[in-house]
Amino acid sequence: DGLVTKKTYEKPVDFTKIEVAKLPVVMIIGRPNVGKSALFNRLIRRREALVYNTPDDHVTRDIREGVAKLGDLRFKVLDSAGLEAEATSGSILHRTAGMTASVLSRSNFAIFLTDGRFGLHPLDLEVGKWLRKHAPQIKPIVVMNKCESLFDASGSLMTAASEMFRLGFGEPIAISAETGLGLPDLYQSLRPVLEDYMLQVLNVVDEETQDDSYSEDSCSTEVDENQLPLQLAIVGRPNVGKSTLLNTLLQEDRVLVGPEAGLTRDSIRTQFEFQGRKIYLVDTAGWLQRTKQDKGPSSLSIMQSRKNLLRAHIIALVLDAEEIANARRSMKHAEVVIARRAVEEGRGLVVIVNKMDLLRGRQKSSLYKKVMEAVPQEIQTIIPQITGIPVIFTSAVEGRGRTALLQQVVDTYEKWCSRLPTARLNRWLLKVMSRHSWKDQAAQPKVKYFTQVKARPPTFVAFLRGKTELADTDIRFLTKSLKEDFDLGGIPIRIMQRFVT
Ligand code: GDP
Ligand code: GDP
Repeated sequence: DGLVTKKTYEKPVDFTKIEVAKLPVVMIIGRPNVGKSALFNRLIRRREALVYNTPDDHVTRDIREGVAKLGDLRFKVLDSAGLEAEATSGSILHRTAGMTASVLSRSNFAIFLTDGRFGLHPLDLEVGKWLRKHAPQIKPIVVMNKCESLFDASGSLMTAASEMFRLGFGEPIAISAETGLGLPDLYQSLRPVLEDYMLQVLNVVDEETQDDSYSEDSCSTEVDENQLPLQLAIVGRPNVGKSTLLNTLLQEDRVLVGPEAGLTRDSIRTQFEFQGRKIYLVDTAGWLQRTKQDKGPSSLSIMQSRKNLLRAHIIALVLDAEEIANARRSMKHAEVVIARRAVEEGRGLVVIVNKMDLLRGRQKSSLYKKVMEAVPQEIQTIIPQITGIPVIFTSAVEGRGRTALLQQVVDTYEKWCSRLPTARLNRWLLKVMSRHSWKDQAAQPKVKYFTQVKARPPTFVAFLRGKTELADTDIRFLTKSLKEDFDLGGIPIRIMQRFVT
C-alpha cells in the first residue's frame, strides 16, 4: 500500500549465490530448554537437516546441521545438544563440553540462546563462562527466546535485556522462535558480521563487483525498527525539572512533581508516541524516586552505573539554565561524569538546558545569550572527540521545546542506528585516503577495505594489509571524515582495525 516506502540497499554479498561449503557456520548454544531446536527448525524451515552422531566420553549426541535462511542471508547452522545440565553429574559441563568445544572450533559464529521469559538463569552464566574459556575467538550474539508475550510489555523486555547484559556479550536481541517475532532484529545483527566474514573469504574488494544493488523485495524478512522502541533516559540532578519535563513529554499530568511524591513504578506510564514512533522512558519512576529522596551530590551516581546507562539508547542530560547563568561553569562534576560516560558507553547524548523562561526579560538578555553560547562550547571541551553534541533549550513549565527535543532525540537515535553499505564505504575510503596527509608516506598503513560491523552506535572495522597500524591521528581523521560525509555528527562512532593476510 501507499504507506510503505521502499528503500534500495546496496548489498555487497549475495548469499543466495554462494555455494554451501563456503557459507559461514553459526552454532546455536545455550542451556537446555531455551528453544535451540525450535530456533534451528525455524531457520532451516522445511529443508533437510543433516544429523550425525558424535561419540564423546561414552555419550552419543546428535548434532544437526542445516542451511539457514533468514531473509536473503544464508549460513550453516549447527544445533548441538549444547551444554546439557545432567542432574546426575556434578558439573553441568563435563559430559558434553568436549564435544561442544570441538563443534565450536568448526564454527565461525555463535548464537547464545537464552529464555527471555525466564530471565537470566544461573546456567546461562555458566555457559557464558565456558564460552569465554573454550572459544574466546567467538563473540556470541546473545538472543533471548520466548519473548512473544514480552513485546507488548516493554518493561519486562527491558528487565530481561538488562539481566542478559550481565553475560557480558553486549546487547541481547529478543525473538520468539515459535512465532518468528524479532527475527528481523536477528537478521540485522547477523548480516554485517556474516557479510564481513564472506568478504574476507571471497576476498571481494574489486570495486566493480560491489556495485550490484538489491531492492528490499529480495529480502523476505522485513526490518521493523519499531519492534524494540527507542529507549530514552532523562537524567539530571534534583530540581533541574526532570519530572516537569516528563509531564510535558507525556502531555499529561501523570508524573507527580514535588519532593513528597510517593511514586510507585507502575503509576507512571513509561511509553509514549512521537510522530508515530514509540519512545520508552527507561526506569523513570525508579530514579526519580531516588533522586527525590537524595538531594546530595551522589544522587546522580545511580545513573552513572554502566548498567543503567546501557539500558538506554539515548541519554538526555537535563541542566538548569538559571544555575548556569549564575555559575562559572555550565556543568557540575557529576554532570560532566555522566556526559562523558554516556559517550564512552556508546550511547547517544542530548543535552537539555531547562528553565530558559527564567532568563527572559530585558535585564536578563545577556544572561540568556551567555547560556546559549556557553553550554555547547563547554560540552565541546569536555567531550572533544565528538563535535556537535546536540543542545536543546526548553521551558518545561511553559511546555516549550517539546517538539524540538523529541525531534532531536529521534534524529540522534536514527543516526545512532545507521548502517552504511560496505560498497559505499569503500568508494568513500578511496577518496578520503587520497585526501589524508600521512605522517610517513613511505610506511603508510594500507587499508584494504572498510566495513561497518555494527550499528547502535555505528562501529567500523578497517582491514589492514601489511604491518603498519593506523595511528591515532589516522583514526581521528577517518572518524571526522565519516561524520562529515555521512552526517554522523553528534554521536559516538567507533573504528577498530584488523590485519588481513
Ligand atoms: P532446546 O533444549 O534448547 O533445544 O529447547 P527446545 O527447542 O526443545 O524447546 C524447549 C521448549 O521451549 C519446548 O517446549 C518449546 O516448545 C518451547 N519453546 C521454544 N521456543 C519457544 C518460543 O519462542 N516461545 C515459547 N513460548 N516457547 C518456546
Ligand atoms: P526534578 O527534581 O529534576 O524532577 O525537578 P522538578 O520537575 O521536580 O522541578 C523542580 C522545580 O523546578 C519545580 O518547582 C518546578 O516547578 C520547577 N521547574 C521545572 N521546570 C521548570 C522550567 O522550565 N521553568 C521554571 N521556571 N521552573 C521549572
